[in-house]
Amino acid sequence: MAVSFLLTPEQEQLKAAARGFAEEHLRDLAAAVRAEPDPLARAVLARPVFEKAVGQGFLKGLIPAPVGGAASNGVDAAIFIEEWAVHSPDFTISMAGPLIALAPVYEAGTPEQVRRFVAPFLADAGAPLAAMAYSEPEGSANFDAPTGTRTTATPDGDHYVINGRKAWASHLSGWDGDGPDLMTIVCRAPGGISLIVAEREHLAGHVEVEEHYDLPGLRGCLTSRVRLHDVRVPRANLLGAEGQGVGLTRNAFLPSGASIGIFAVAAMRGAFDVALRFATTETRGGPVPIIQHQAVSDVLADAKGRIEAVRLLTWRALDAVMAQHPAAPELALHAKVLGSETGVEVVNELVKLVGVTAYDERFPIVEYLHEALAYPVIEGSNIGVRRRQLQDLFRTPGYDPLAASGMT
Ligand SMILES: Cc1cc2nc3c(=O)[nH]c(=O)nc-3n(C[C@H](O)[C@H](O)[C@H](O)COP(=O)(O)OP(=O)(O)OC[C@H]3O[C@@H](n4cnc5c(N)ncnc54)[C@H](O)[C@@H]3O)c2cc1C
Repeated sequence: MAVSFLLTPEQEQLKAAARGFAEEHLRDLAAAVRAEPDPLARAVLARPVFEKAVGQGFLKGLIPAPVGGAASNGVDAAIFIEEWAVHSPDFTISMAGPLIALAPVYEAGTPEQVRRFVAPFLADAGAPLAAMAYSEPEGSANFDAPTGTRTTATPDGDHYVINGRKAWASHLSGWDGDGPDLMTIVCRAPGGISLIVAEREHLAGHVEVEEHYDLPGLRGCLTSRVRLHDVRVPRANLLGAEGQGVGLTRNAFLPSGASIGIFAVAAMRGAFDVALRFATTETRGGPVPIIQHQAVSDVLADAKGRIEAVRLLTWRALDAVMAQHPAAPELALHAKVLGSETGVEVVNELVKLVGVTAYDERFPIVEYLHEALAYPVIEGSNIGVRRRQLQDLFRTPGYDPLAASGMT
């Protein structure tokens, strides 16, 4: 990132395009999703908007430029995510499957694999889906432990036969229950934890949906528990070597983990706007708008400072991730952990500022708290996964605390 933090003319254009799309399509979609009780029906509501977004090139914006996409730097990604997530973080997460599922393809795929697996996501039409099938119903924080990943890949001639249960990942079932266009499966092969890419032709008829989760926030995300039974995948779809899956999986969650900071910013920004409007217009029976009370104004001041701080940290983290800078893992972890926990605290303070009115379902602020509550536990929960990764970094011999900021 340049030293200047001013947006370039191109970034201003990107912000305007993303905001325009969000205001035209995502606001109404979010309202429709809120009104629909069934999780599958809610998710399917997004499909026409998904197709419009693909048609306007937004999906390509998630694919790195060197492999044919349009993503060039982390700040661009942050701007685009914030503008969408403030209206519909669930839609944004749903579209972002390739960000995680294709990351190990870029890292360990052969040139032929990269071409084949990326191709569906360079399309200008349709609604192609990618899922990163890491989480399992019995838990995944210890996926690298001997019994931590229970999904198996058994060699059979030129194929692997994959069996097991996966949970939580967006779009495990695809739009129609026959799986997404591409599923990167974290599984146990004879050589250890491995990543194998199943394509739609391998999944159709072999994905049994056990349940679609009914989420309290991010309600448009189609997260499910599925059983994979006898998914036959060519051995040519193994990424890297057997046993390489632990490192590839951790790295796969770096870009999406860092982006959680921006999802938290979007929730804080939305809640801040509502709380500011309330504070400047409501007297609650007193003689002056409540912003005139110092305590109320202090809540806004603390919130705004923390929003600005998390936004800048996350820009820096996403920039480092996209540039593959050595500081990327640490910065991405801080953006995920500090960003998500700040999000919950700030939105909760803003809810308290509004007071009891906030607790009316029709008043538009508690929804941001529901969203914010998801961020510490998704993309690897902070306690079970992310803080342990920070602990590992700090325990690495020769760890330099100044390296992440370039101040060594
Ligand atoms: C909307 C949404 C989208 C998601 N998208 C995806 C996706 O695309 N792909 C995917 O695979 N998953 C996805 N998930 C699941 C998500 O990434 C989870 O964060 C992940 O499954 C890990 O959960 P966990 O850390 O709570 O693990 P669990 O194994 O369930 O651990 C639960 C808790 O146990 C404790 N714990 C366990 N082991 C340890 C340990 N060794 N040290 C310290 N504490 C420990 C911690 O308190 C931890 O929080 C999604 C979830 C949601 C809601």
